[in-house]
Amino acid sequence: MELKRILEIVEGSRSAMISDISGMIRIPAIGPSNGGAGELERADHVQTLLKGFDSVERYDTPDRSYPDVIRPNIVARRKGAGKGTVWIVSHLDTVPPGDLGKWISPPFEPRVDGGRVYGLGTEDNGQAIISSIHAVKAIPPGRLSGKSIGLAIVADEETTSAMGIEYLLGKGCFTEDDLIIVPDWGSEGGTMIEIAEKHLLWVRFTVRGRQTHGSVPEKGINAFRVGTDFLSDLMARLKERYGEENAYFRPPTSTFEPTKASPTVDNVNTIPGLYEFWMDCRILPSQDPEEILGMMRAVAGEHSERTGAEISAEVEQKTFAGKPSATDTEDFKVFLEAVRSVADGDVETVGVGGGTCANFFRLRGLNAYVWQFGGGSLHQPNEYVVLDNIVNDAKVYATVFYRLCV
Ligand SMILES: [Zn+2]
Repeated sequence: MELKRILEIVEGSRSAMISDISGMIRIPAIGPSNGGAGELERADHVQTLLKGFDSVERYDTPDRSYPDVIRPNIVARRKGAGKGTVWIVSHLDTVPPGDLGKWISPPFEPRVDGGRVYGLGTEDNGQAIISSIHAVKAIPPGRLSGKSIGLAIVADEETTSAMGIEYLLGKGCFTEDDLIIVPDWGSEGGTMIEIAEKHLLWVRFTVRGRQTHGSVPEKGINAFRVGTDFLSDLMARLKERYGEENAYFRPPTSTFEPTKASPTVDNVNTIPGLYEFWMDCRILPSQDPEEILGMMRAVAGEHSERTGAEISAEVEQKTFAGKPSATDTEDFKVFLEAVRSVADGDVETVGVGGGTCANFFRLRGLNAYVWQFGGGSLHQPNEYVVLDNIVNDAKVYATVFYRLCV
């Protein structure tokens, strides 16, 4: 069968895509730590959509904090004669719906309107589940002469990934011969392929001064004043020392942003003795989070000495970014060409500050690429997916399967 015919089959699947995504989002799949019952029922339903595979396996595992809840992972394969597998990795779980009053129609009742399907989990990550299933459906049956095709449909992406993609990685499902596509982030027009991420560092700063009456500030140490002076000095020095640019990344520099802060005192006429604030740092892979933390503590030490306040810096979260995924492999070139064939504009490879589950692959030295058509409204009330995006994503996956597997 020619590629043209395969793409016509994808194009002809629109109504089946609508009905499949609608059936899926009627079943809630919110993780237990977010107050849900998990993804088991949705996984069983999605499994009924997986027709024509050589094998469909389940890698289920009890939740580590809620052992009564089973976290399901589906691995569906069509076997190829060659080495390696082209993987599309998608996730079953969603975030909670938030304020129900902000939803025009209920989050678990699909609504089709103007080329969009509305409902919780339609874009994140229903788009990827449905587009990958329909891409495989368009590939003619029979033995594949190239790479195998694999769909990994996992749990626990919105919380820890430990019982989802990390669990599958631990089971040895993926190899260095694989092309791994993770459609969990996208730009409008499908023009950006994410190949790298920044390190993530969250730091809590605690400033302990001495509380006193507002009329006699010299008798105390104003933790709020010390903290804000320290913060503005710290931000200027971080910018100066770690201002290096890497054009791959959006934005091109590391970012060091103060985000959360503690309340100080309830009344205006008290000098606060305690102040806390947090920073969210997204650090270029070429820079060292440990060194940055050391510098933060050194600046804190200078301010402590000058003011008499005690300032500490504690790590709340630290995630190292893996090595950027390779762009000089034959597999990547095939993927890039497939993206170019449908993208609306010039295609670029980029790095971002947000964390995706592609990083779990990169930390193990595997190449993973984050791509899909973006432009919906994930993690917001009235989440929707654009039907054209599901179709275009499926065309790209079908093209890659045709070139590398058939
Ligand atoms: Zn997602």
